[in-house]
Amino acid sequence: MRIVYGPIKSLGLGKVVAVDPISRSPKVCTLNCVYCRLGRGGMMLLDRTAFIDCSSLMDQVGECLYREECETVMFKGTGEPLLASNIFDMARRLRDGSDKKVALLTNCTLLKDPQVLGQLDAFDIIIAKLDAASEETFQAVNRPHPSLRFQDVLEGIRSARERFDGSFRIQITLVRENLSEVDDLSQLCREICPDYVYLNCPEGCDPFHMVSRKDMQAAMDRFFGIRCVSSNAKE
Ligand code: SF4
Repeated sequence: MRIVYGPIKSLGLGKVVAVDPISRSPKVCTLNCVYCRLGRGGMMLLDRTAFIDCSSLMDQVGECLYREECETVMFKGTGEPLLASNIFDMARRLRDGSDKKVALLTNCTLLKDPQVLGQLDAFDIIIAKLDAASEETFQAVNRPHPSLRFQDVLEGIRSARERFDGSFRIQITLVRENLSEVDDLSQLCREICPDYVYLNCPEGCDPFHMVSRKDMQAAMDRFFGIRCVSSNAKE
């Protein structure tokens, strides 16, 4: 599987070079979200390990780092990128070897781990996924590993926000199952105070979970006073 691919369009960041520190099919993740573009199967785990070595990444990344249309390299995986125990090494090497910003898209389930929290400064931008405001909706939308609890994930997000000096952003994927929690989600965002909120519409998932454009617009209106970008709105 390709470790480096793109450029791809990323909500709020424009074109990015994507890096997959997992590079496995089926996916390896701590969650099994109802809208996951990687499908339902895969391996669910919480223990961090190295999936690829840094030198394979540096071999592949080559000329991608010199593409002028991409200002950012983004870690996003065939699963949760922070499960890769060597991700911080990779991020630092990319940052040292180029003038690109290095971003991380994470589902936040490992942010409470002190080993993770203490090394987030390897990134310039963190995009933290938050799809629920309650345990019930977390279970319904994100279908987590049985050991994970919503309040712990939320605590991890709050700690990361407090300690991280770079740009901290929240991405909410709206589906039918969390639409009734939009007000609670916007309240949580007001408390966490991210630099941006991205309201995302899933692609390629079962139409049962999809929300309408009208619902997306109505949800966007509930984030008044917050810098919010929607995948339906022009950036
Ligand atoms: S966190 Fe991402 S990769 Fe993991 S199940 Fe959810 S959508 Fe898929």
